[in-house]
Amino acid sequence: MTDATTALEALRSRLTGRLLLPDDADYDAARSPWNLAVEQRPAAVAFPADVADVQAIVLAAAEAGLGVTTQPNGHGAAGDLDGVVLVRPTAFDEVSVDVPARVLRVGAGVNWGAALQALEGSGLIGLAGSNPEVNVVGLAINGGHSMFSRLHGLTARSIAALELVDASGAVRRVTGLDDDDEQGRELIWALRGGGAAGFGVITAIELELFPGEALFGGGLVFDAEHAKLVIAAALALGRDVPDLGLDVGMMQFPDLPVMPPHLRGRTVATVSLVHVGDEATGRGYADRVLAVAEPIANALTPFTIGELAAVAAEPTDPMPTADFGASLGSDDDAFVAEFVEAFLAGASHGLTRAGMRPVGGATADALGADLAAVGAVSAPLVLNTGVLLAGPGVDPEAALQPLRDLAARHPGGGGIPSMLGPGPLALAYRPEALERLAAVKGSVDPGGLFRGNRAISG
Ligand SMILES: Cc1cc2nc3c(=O)[nH]c(=O)nc-3n(C[C@H](O)[C@H](O)[C@H](O)COP(=O)(O)OP(=O)(O)OC[C@H]3O[C@@H](n4cnc5c(N)ncnc54)[C@H](O)[C@@H]3O)c2cc1C
Repeated sequence: MTDATTALEALRSRLTGRLLLPDDADYDAARSPWNLAVEQRPAAVAFPADVADVQAIVLAAAEAGLGVTTQPNGHGAAGDLDGVVLVRPTAFDEVSVDVPARVLRVGAGVNWGAALQALEGSGLIGLAGSNPEVNVVGLAINGGHSMFSRLHGLTARSIAALELVDASGAVRRVTGLDDDDEQGRELIWALRGGGAAGFGVITAIELELFPGEALFGGGLVFDAEHAKLVIAAALALGRDVPDLGLDVGMMQFPDLPVMPPHLRGRTVATVSLVHVGDEATGRGYADRVLAVAEPIANALTPFTIGELAAVAAEPTDPMPTADFGASLGSDDDAFVAEFVEAFLAGASHGLTRAGMRPVGGATADALGADLAAVGAVSAPLVLNTGVLLAGPGVDPEAALQPLRDLAARHPGGGGIPSMLGPGPLALAYRPEALERLAAVKGSVDPGGLFRGNRAISG
């Protein structure tokens, strides 16, 4: 038995929660991330029951020369976890809403679907992403783009407080408001967007909420023959209405029996929109897109905050995917024509989806840059594209290459880590921010104990 294994066996006997080692029956299920294409074999998988367990895990890993990473779901799993204890914070499931203070508090195991359910009836909205199974902490500390971001900014900017166990095993609460805690101010700055570099095991987060009594939106699907007209109309709408949430793109539904018959094997253009306000105004916006082509599906409807995930209607079950993201510097009609051609070229090798979200609005607001690592996004669009690694004839590199080429021809510069697919934080941040992130990492985790899913530079 190695020294590390002996140390982990000793740790297991001290925990209230569970610790699974490679020989344990449940280890394979526990190590598996949401993205089933990522193979990761950590030294152990820990399910701490409480903060004291997290402290014991951190101290034992440090003493045994192991690393620590926290991965609620593995949406952003990046592979290689050799010599690392993987922490699954499932037991940290508290959810509370302080309506007068407009603050949402959740434990590190809570996904956005559960958090949004807790907001039902409050008249408040949080800056959730599009998928209910993405974790609240995981999205927020990696930047976080929400359909509400053009109105209220990136999710990272809404972080009011974080509670974590640091590399020394100490429990810390950081708000950035304590004048006597300069390291804490730097730490919350780093965690507002640069969290993937690994600064501790976060156990709870508090996020600012915003008024949002009436919501309207949903998805529109069009045959691919209308793609250029529809996407150009939607992007023009986005330029004219800078606080409207929009996701515009194309999808190729796999030719698999699990697909609904009317979509199986079909290529389509998609437009999702979210308007905070009344139905009549929202329908007026959507009519500008509906005026250029007849949709094959129209799910526009007033909805409540707990129903937000239905607007995007994304798959929630674990699946094998390869992804790529970038910010894009163009959004005019000539660019749209290139985008559609690039998608169709990728689709012939199995490309499944490519979505572009107009940014601008509050995400372009440089105010408060000193409060958050994630900067103002000046590019007009962010792209996120992916391949479902299933079915015949799928070649992920060939499928993604036309969109990689498109992004290289239309660079946006900078971006939002959570929307960029795999890769270092250097893809998203300006050099000054990277230097400051490295300084914070060196100050709070000098031994490099915490392994996030992205290095600071490549
Ligand atoms: C289907 C799908 C839809 C998505 N939609 C959006 C979207 O609309 N907007 C958007 O911005 N992003 C979106 N994303 C990207 C997603 O926000 C990131 O991949 C995010 O990092 C996932 O967080 P997770 O905790 O669920 O995943 P994980 O892979 O489990 O965690 C990601 C990383 O976050 C860090 N981390 C998470 N929790 C903790 C913690 N408690 N303590 C310390 N570190 C922690 C770790 O570095 C970890 O490696 C989407 C991803 C998918 C797969």
